[in-house]
Amino acid sequence: MLLKGVPASRGIIIGPAVVLGSSELGVKRGKISSQSVEAEIARLHEAVARTREQLHDLKRKVATEIGQKQSEIFTAHILFLEDPSFVVETNEAIRRERVNAEWAVWQFVERYAKLLNEVNDSHLGAREGDIRDVGRRLVQNLRGGMLTMVGSLDKRSVLVAVDLAPSETAQLDLSKVSGFATDVGGPTSHTAIIARTLELPAVVGLEHATQHVKTGDTIILDGTGGILIANPDKETLAHYRARQKDEAQLELALKRLRRLPAITKDGYKLHMAGNIDLPEDARIVMERGAEGVGLFRTEFLFLNRHNLPTEEEQFQAYRLALKSCEPHGVIVRTLDLGGDKFLAHLGLNPEMNPFLGLRAIRLCLAHPYVFKVQLRAILRASHFGKLQIMYPLISGVEELRQANQMLEEVKKDLAKRGIPFNPDIDVGAMIEVPSAALTADILAKEVRFFSIGTNDLIQYTMAVDRGNERIAYLYDPLHPAILRTVKYVVDEAHKQQVKVSVCGEMGGDPLFSLVLMGLGVDGLSMSASSISLVKRSIRAATFKEAEALAHQALKLSTAKEIRDFLSESELGRVLEAP
Ligand code: PEP
Ligand code: MG
Repeated sequence: MLLKGVPASRGIIIGPAVVLGSSELGVKRGKISSQSVEAEIARLHEAVARTREQLHDLKRKVATEIGQKQSEIFTAHILFLEDPSFVVETNEAIRRERVNAEWAVWQFVERYAKLLNEVNDSHLGAREGDIRDVGRRLVQNLRGGMLTMVGSLDKRSVLVAVDLAPSETAQLDLSKVSGFATDVGGPTSHTAIIARTLELPAVVGLEHATQHVKTGDTIILDGTGGILIANPDKETLAHYRARQKDEAQLELALKRLRRLPAITKDGYKLHMAGNIDLPEDARIVMERGAEGVGLFRTEFLFLNRHNLPTEEEQFQAYRLALKSCEPHGVIVRTLDLGGDKFLAHLGLNPEMNPFLGLRAIRLCLAHPYVFKVQLRAILRASHFGKLQIMYPLISGVEELRQANQMLEEVKKDLAKRGIPFNPDIDVGAMIEVPSAALTADILAKEVRFFSIGTNDLIQYTMAVDRGNERIAYLYDPLHPAILRTVKYVVDEAHKQQVKVSVCGEMGGDPLFSLVLMGLGVDGLSMSASSISLVKRSIRAATFKEAEALAHQALKLSTAKEIRDFLSESELGRVLEAP
């Protein structure tokens, strides 16, 4: 059985599958380690909070749209969640039996429902349905938590899931995961990015993988070709084992490039940085040959917990990243929450279009308390090395000014208290929204650098949800609109001596990186796994060739024409040769 999806992270893996989040509720018993007990209880706590929030929203909605009386059903649901025996018994089950939270919840629900059923009262009969309903909702909210079951597996496995939310992947026991296959998602969906960071093969947008694959099946996951094969025959297995060997050889060759600079044959040097989610990743990107961190996605410090990280925790995280990068620097991107990354405990109302909603800098400006704590932590860490600040999702200069205003307030306060920081810290803006790109000349006057976030820039320019596999065919970095936008931003920035780098996934592609260099970008920042591959491209080219390539590409009408032109060019052929 062969499924085709979207290639998301290079490499081939052959091994057993673990299927998560299939359409059936299918709660399974999983054993957790004694060290994981408290974390499991915290996870349950968080899911209960999220469930309660959803129920309150539903109740409000039903009360206004249908009627007060009908909305009372949700009061009963909420009361169930708040029932002390529910809390005590589920927590106890996790502690005593060391089971996963889903199992503890579902066992309680079954027991309770059975009890109500036995009472055989028509009124209570209805309540039995309610109990199951709220239990199902809670289990759905814990779904990411099913991943903790991965901890109880004895073999490394390929995770097959409908989707993996950022909060879910963040709690994976990575020693048990060898690859990712998801039904949904595009090339820059969260799962794709995380897989590249972890250097694990991944295919997303497979549509029906969770229906066709069963836990325990042997699967071949070809992250380079975007293919999943379940229960392969002998020949197919042999074929892929041979390919695995070839890839291992390529890896070995790439390893040698780690310590070499990204310099063209005619001496043009591109700055190569790495993208990280957590401070510990900084060491990995440095090992892979990065010159510092070009994008620290700090929101990962905020996920999977039911309180906000303190200023001190954040300060330590930024310092740790800096320390791993010495003598290079770290660009800290301020919080990019919203979109597909949520915090249940911030108590924000769900939105119809979260990617067009209160996301990133908008959310920070609306919650100055959260933002200022982060700015304080960044400023304090700036005393210890080359730390730069970058704001995500800037859509116009007013937002930039508002953010800078808050930064100045925080600086003033630190100065007043005699706390050391770099008063001249560099501030940059991400260019991810067409309105920012089109006003690059205005923004350039008020920043030190730009970093083009192509993942979002493509999504917003093309009106293509970056996580939707059904329209992934439209999500194309080579669309003339994208190349023109990059060129415009670079030209306007350079007129004012503002440097431009690209930190979206486009920069991690060996061929696209040449086009970006040819368009004039000064640096790239990418996942650990792409660094050597891109260095190989840069080192195989001259700047002149890359410039000519970009120049010619800009004259073409479609992404396909550009792609064909690139792969048929001399450089393209060199790079595609085995
Ligand atoms: C981007 O949008 O290109 C980017 C780098 O940010 P993120 O992927 O975190 O949205
Ligand atoms: Mg972005």
